[in-house]
Amino acid sequence: MEKNAASQTIVKQVAKGNKMRNTWDEYFLKIAKEVSTRATCPRKSHGAVITKNNRIISSGYNGSPLNLHHCDKVGCFIVETTSNKGVEKHCIRTIHSEQNAILQCARFGVSCDGATIYVTGNPCYTCAKLIVGAGIKRYVYSNEYFHSDGLDASALDLMREAGVEVIKIKPNAGLKRVYVAGPYTNGEKELNTQKAIMVGEEIFKIGMHPYIPHLFHFWDKEYPHPWETWMELNAPWLKSSDALFRMEGESKGADLEVARAKELGIPIFDNLWDLRVWANEETEKEK
Ligand SMILES: [Zn+2]
Ligand SMILES: [Zn+2]
Repeated sequence: MEKNAASQTIVKQVAKGNKMRNTWDEYFLKIAKEVSTRATCPRKSHGAVITKNNRIISSGYNGSPLNLHHCDKVGCFIVETTSNKGVEKHCIRTIHSEQNAILQCARFGVSCDGATIYVTGNPCYTCAKLIVGAGIKRYVYSNEYFHSDGLDASALDLMREAGVEVIKIKPNAGLKRVYVAGPYTNGEKELNTQKAIMVGEEIFKIGMHPYIPHLFHFWDKEYPHPWETWMELNAPWLKSSDALFRMEGESKGADLEVARAKELGIPIFDNLWDLRVWANEETEKEK
């Protein structure tokens, strides 16, 4: 009996121990976060860690090239660019964390072919190209960052197109649920459903979980319910959502859902940019 009691205790401890343990991806992302604290540009801190077979082969943070002055000592080197969003100011003194990690491999003669890179944020378009060119096969990141060229989604697509596995992990934040509201019966149902799926895909790509009632309404062709029944069926989903995304187009149902979201204090968005900014701010708060 005593022997049994002792072995039960051990089993419990092992189970508890496993629960506490980080996955490799969480572990290296946390290290990348730590690496970012060495960044020398006060405008942004990013960190990157390159691994092979779960061993760190290189790391980098955003800072000046070797032997050159850093922003925190001599100030940022600001240039202005004009885009459709107006005039924006950037610091061009530093090399991005991903680039510095790849450069460290080059400097010390370590191949990063087939490696994984862990970064505190999504890449800019240039970094995405370098990652592909360096033969890196996995890009794991935690936070959304907005590059002023507006090419954030394209940079991720470029890597995916080249066969790089792109994984977003939020170590300390829950997945945001976004309710997609928009026209269904007003216009062509097929087209409206397709548009809603596309919006859902974009929401998913930027790290949130979409709920798309259109899909169920479409299914309604086979199992018809009156409009009011669908509104009631969707109500609990709306209630448990973190945000509502209102698609373009006239819709009595969507307007009602927007009104309900307002009552419930659920934030409402009509563009993906603002939705991303909001999600990022929420994630920062949760840390
Ligand atoms: Zn700077
Ligand atoms: Zn970059």
